[in-house]
Amino acid sequence: MKKLEQLLYNSDHKPYPVYKNLKGTYFFPEYSISVEHVQGDPFAAPSSLSIKISANVHGFPDGFLNTKHRRIALQDYLLRNFHKELKKYDHKISGSGKSGLISISSCNQEILERSALSFDRTDKSLTVRFNIGFPAAGRTTLALELKKILFDFIPLCISKSLKYTATDIKELNKWINLSNDQKAIREQLKDLNLIAFVANGSILPRKSGVDDRPMQNAVKFTSSKEDEVTLNLPNNRSIKGLGIKEGITLIVGGGYHGKSTLLKALERGVYDHIPGDGREYVITEDSAMKLRAEDGRSIIQTDISAFICDLPNGKNTMNFNTEDASGSTSQAASTVEAILSGAHTLLIDEDTSATNFLVRDALMHKVISAAEEPIIPFITRMQQLYTERRISTILVAGSCGTFFNVSDNILQMKNYNPINITFKAKETALNFHNDITAPNELPNFYDNRIPIHNNLVADSKKVKIRGQGTNSVSINHECVELRFVEQLTDNEQTNLLGALLRILEEKYFNGKNNLMTCLNSVYNDLEKKGFIVANYSGMIPGNYAMIRFQELYAMICRYRGLNLK
Ligand code: ADP
Ligand code: MG
Repeated sequence: MKKLEQLLYNSDHKPYPVYKNLKGTYFFPEYSISVEHVQGDPFAAPSSLSIKISANVHGFPDGFLNTKHRRIALQDYLLRNFHKELKKYDHKISGSGKSGLISISSCNQEILERSALSFDRTDKSLTVRFNIGFPAAGRTTLALELKKILFDFIPLCISKSLKYTATDIKELNKWINLSNDQKAIREQLKDLNLIAFVANGSILPRKSGVDDRPMQNAVKFTSSKEDEVTLNLPNNRSIKGLGIKEGITLIVGGGYHGKSTLLKALERGVYDHIPGDGREYVITEDSAMKLRAEDGRSIIQTDISAFICDLPNGKNTMNFNTEDASGSTSQAASTVEAILSGAHTLLIDEDTSATNFLVRDALMHKVISAAEEPIIPFITRMQQLYTERRISTILVAGSCGTFFNVSDNILQMKNYNPINITFKAKETALNFHNDITAPNELPNFYDNRIPIHNNLVADSKKVKIRGQGTNSVSINHECVELRFVEQLTDNEQTNLLGALLRILEEKYFNGKNNLMTCLNSVYNDLEKKGFIVANYSGMIPGNYAMIRFQELYAMICRYRGLNLK
């Protein structure tokens, strides 16, 4: 601490690069501060710091830390509070460029494990990672101003928000108890053969298309009587709501009655939500994958023959390549990829699907013979996927009744709430004949691609990774489109994907192991060791958030730089 103080005195009113001397770790009575990266000038990206607080100082009891879901809930809670405290001092000190900026990752409605704040799994110490714009006037350092930040502001923020004794226990318990509930529901889904649960009283619609907070005065969700289940919660409590069973669930209804809103909530239900979100008791099994059309995407050596064969240009669909997929081929590829990535549930909305991928009606069937149509519509595969591979589908469709025949359960959304119409719809459907049998057996899905290093990242010192919100990530000049990987919910997840792509290119894509082996080993490492696995510059950036394996695989499948043996 004394050393840092001295360095700051010596660095005051000097040329900006003098700040570089601050790099290092300094021990304060209660914690250590590490200056990990120092910006080159006041306008550059702000400097990175981390603070490590040992377990006996932060004082959070083991009961919070020794279970993964509680640890993540606690981390989320503390990060939100630390963020609030830091905000009070943001730009309190002024100067040129980013002088005086104090920032840390901000959280949204989902609870994600983030690198910005984490408890060490062994010694239980707490590390926070954040950024400070080192102050300057022009290009002259204002190191005494920086001293104010490091010696006055930050210690206050820590003592107000990162210590057990300063914590509002009642508020924290809301987070912890909810995470216990969410865990309990996830576990019961498996036992009861359910793939999703939507509690009565949930609020599904959002404020707007760009604001993920709950809509005010929305109609609260109430399950259809036939589908209502009661799940047990800790402390002898229970909760009632819609239980969606394995198999094929069809959601129909008039336009504007809330079908897509329900499906969107289910998509997000793979993540846990914060208290007050409205979807905190909407839980979908972890591997569920949203599928949609995505024309223009690339497809690299993928077997899409389960859905597409005999293309007019003679292209082999067992080993399909394109730089510019059509609606149907893109959705076929995403479906195959979802299955390969271990998804047990497929989520599909007619609104965002290629119609010809989903279905072909009887009349079209008569006019255009099957021999002239390369697409084997998804509707003919749905039951096979479930009976032979245990892969369920939840499908939203407003325009096509052919789906009635292949669905196990049919819900009609009416004024934003479901009514079970399975019996009525099936009975009516008996009078309409549609051939919905699959033309052949479901093939085995496999990915035996063997990636080799791409020279685009030849010089690892010069690799640039850039995430653009959740829309894309680029590695040097190669941009990977992620806009339609819809369950990617946070830009910090994109940052992590970019870092993992770099690690894969540098360490794993060596022409020896197949792609799945590479991805599994990176992902298992990430789960076991944490964000250190995605580190390539000697430090862990404070802007990573955890992803599912499904999104990692989805990213790699869209990476046009994927070089194969
Ligand atoms: P659909 O897919 O059936 O056409 P949407 O799910 O897109 O309908 O919903 C239509 C509109 O209704 C959206 O603007 C949505 O925000 C709103 N909405 C959805 N659910 C509710 C609800 N429970 N209460 C109030 N408004 C809702
Ligand atoms: Mg819709």
